[in-house]
Amino acid sequence: MTPTLTRHVPFFDYRHGFVSEEDDLIRIFLDVGRRGAFILQDDLARFEAGLAQFLGARFAVGVANATDGLHLALRAAGIRPGDEVIFPSHTMAATAAAIHFAGAVPVAVECGPDHLIDPDAAAAAITPRTRAIIPVHLNGRTCAMDALAQIAARHGLMLIEDAAQALGSRYRGRAAGTFGAAGVFSFYPAKLLGCLGDGGAVVANDRAIFERLCELRDHGRSAGGEIVAWGLNSRLDNLQAAILDWRLSALPEAIVWRRDLARLYRQRLAGIEALTLPRGPDDDFDHYDAYQNYEIEAHERDTLRAFLQAKGIGTLLPWGGKAVHQCDGLRLSAHLPYTESLFEHMLLLPMNTSLADEDVHAVCDAIERFYRSI
Ligand SMILES: *Cc1c(COP(=O)(O)O)cnc(C)c1O
Repeated sequence: MTPTLTRHVPFFDYRHGFVSEEDDLIRIFLDVGRRGAFILQDDLARFEAGLAQFLGARFAVGVANATDGLHLALRAAGIRPGDEVIFPSHTMAATAAAIHFAGAVPVAVECGPDHLIDPDAAAAAITPRTRAIIPVHLNGRTCAMDALAQIAARHGLMLIEDAAQALGSRYRGRAAGTFGAAGVFSFYPAKLLGCLGDGGAVVANDRAIFERLCELRDHGRSAGGEIVAWGLNSRLDNLQAAILDWRLSALPEAIVWRRDLARLYRQRLAGIEALTLPRGPDDDFDHYDAYQNYEIEAHERDTLRAFLQAKGIGTLLPWGGKAVHQCDGLRLSAHLPYTESLFEHMLLLPMNTSLADEDVHAVCDAIERFYRSI
């Protein structure tokens, strides 16, 4: 028998994003530094314009991170204390925290088999106090925006999109983040477009919302320099914006790479009955998925995970293993049996542009071996 080569596949290699582009990053660092251009400078304006153009949105506003972005988007769109805002419990706690800190009431609902907010569950949670729904485009896949837009229109609700995981993802040709009153993106290093730290942006088509966002991210300061509202200090650093502006041009190519990896995962794993896989990149013409993550459902998930770990393959439980309504400290009372059962089976496999085909093969070989052995 030929010895099996072990190939370590970390879940995400944070060094890779830096060392693979070191010369360019240092060039940008020197350029920005020598101009002393750190806060609200040209590089930020250029990135905001480029991002808006990439998405087909009218306006983009850089912010410190997507959590702030969601909070500011809710406030800029007019969410008031006591309003209820519906969100899927399968999301980062940040989505709910943004609602909470905007003074509104987070209402957690189920996701569907696609792991995204279930439009019927959202409709069923509407009360006279509901003001908005936050579709979360998880894993680089856009939610069922036709159904959600219909529900929102019928009940006079706003859509504020959590597109932190979906930059470049599209539904029927339209970019995630551009369907609602505002859409929010994260540039955390492990996201589809990452910077060297925290960063985020909010896009909008409405000029009044855009102007409000510009004020709220900068101490409530208006274009004329006057304080007109209670604001935050939540600006996107100009240095990060310069890096993001440079990296944005390579994003479409990076998404093609991720789609190739997803295609390969599907080819290799589709025959394993113990697994449920995400839709393949060629399965569904309405969706152009960006594969921020590759989130599978697996029988014997925890045993599989330990097996992969022992082979040097990194995986992750979504949100550390709990949906938002299952985080006791947040005291959201909800009973969401479908989401709860999903959280016993979901597993994130490595998915990023530091991976080669051989890495995916190594992961799939190990998964095959596991299910043959039990
Ligand atoms: C990453 C993420 C956020 C928060 O983004 P930050 O930039 O880290 O604040 C919010 N929602 C979702 C779905 C995310 O994946």
